[in-house]
Amino acid sequence: MSFVAQRLTYFDSSDFREAIRKQALLTDPVDLSIGVPEELTADHVKAAAIRAIINDKTTYTPTNGLAELRSALARKLKTENNVLVEPSAVTIVPGLTTGQLLVYLAVLDPGDEVIVFDPYYPPYPHLASMVGARVVYVSTLPTFQPDLAALEASITDKTKLIVINTPNNPSGAVYPEKTLRAIAALAEANNILLISDEIYEHFVYDGQHFSIGSIYPNTITMNGFSKEHAMTGWRLGYIAGPQEIIDAINELQQYTVMSSSSISQHAALAALAQKPTHLIDKYRRKRDLVISRLRAAGYDLHGADGAFYAFVKAPRNLTDVEFVDRATERGLIIVAGRAFSQLHGYIRISYGADIATLERGIVILEALAKELQVAPLPKTAAQSTHTNSTV
Ligand code: PLP
Repeated sequence: MSFVAQRLTYFDSSDFREAIRKQALLTDPVDLSIGVPEELTADHVKAAAIRAIINDKTTYTPTNGLAELRSALARKLKTENNVLVEPSAVTIVPGLTTGQLLVYLAVLDPGDEVIVFDPYYPPYPHLASMVGARVVYVSTLPTFQPDLAALEASITDKTKLIVINTPNNPSGAVYPEKTLRAIAALAEANNILLISDEIYEHFVYDGQHFSIGSIYPNTITMNGFSKEHAMTGWRLGYIAGPQEIIDAINELQQYTVMSSSSISQHAALAALAQKPTHLIDKYRRKRDLVISRLRAAGYDLHGADGAFYAFVKAPRNLTDVEFVDRATERGLIIVAGRAFSQLHGYIRISYGADIATLERGIVILEALAKELQVAPLPKTAAQSTHTNSTV
């Protein structure tokens, strides 16, 4: 009999083990699988971390983080996001993934229902199941925009939470303000809490990012330093929201995290001083390249208005794993969409990679489309510019 707890069954990754085994055998693979930006952490951020070490700022910080960092984040939320919170209603966490678990532990009781839009960032449903909540999936296919009627129909008297992630991983969809206002109205009418994961807020290429926490106070706004500041390994994020929830998270952190890295927090203060807006044009160009070339090759591709992902339908009704296997045979690593969805017919491509890697990956995907005899889309559709759907 296994000593491993039952809750681990929520993390079934058997589908991927074989794919990962095959991918590990590749020499010089083209990797379009990981959600990491190509940039390195900026020098001034690294210097701030080094200064923190040299100046012995290496002990525990307060559980909820350095006061100056929380104040800086409250100011940032006010000026950039129109989210009004006191510094006491901001807490620092060792990354948003841990943050997600802390929020769930703070607000969910067994049997509570959590609405998750499909496709989703994998921890949203798995961690919810792990804490005993019931996950209700609302499909966003085919546009990857929330269907408000479907959302409303999925609300019951047990619905406690709706998880929102815009710009979205894995679809790249950006939800327009109008959609977010409609979701907030539904949440208010039904007394539902919202989580808004805004980790890709600056990666928006069409339309504008809108923070739902600016119009609905029962929103837990989550953000972090991993993506836009190229700090995935520094493990730092923050959560802002209703004070009683932040207090509960802090109590949980006291017995689990204790405090996030002091060094990373000092680095984050330096990171906040410079908004990474220079990245956007570069990422827009990469996004345009992916969209135009893959659509021209005949791939069915929606979303991709933001973040750095495209969620693409596997052609010819192949399953995601079958298509990923074919890509692997040609030296390309991409992710089978079932990691992000209840459906098994999509693949996720990350364009966090540098342009040369991206170009090599696209050439392989074009060759695969040819091999599978996918009909290229008519030129006008392939060339059409990408616009937000306004659901
Ligand atoms: N939220 C989303 C939507 C993500 O895509 C990711 C990483 O891929 C994270 C959170 C993880 O953030 P962190 O590195 O802060 O744990």
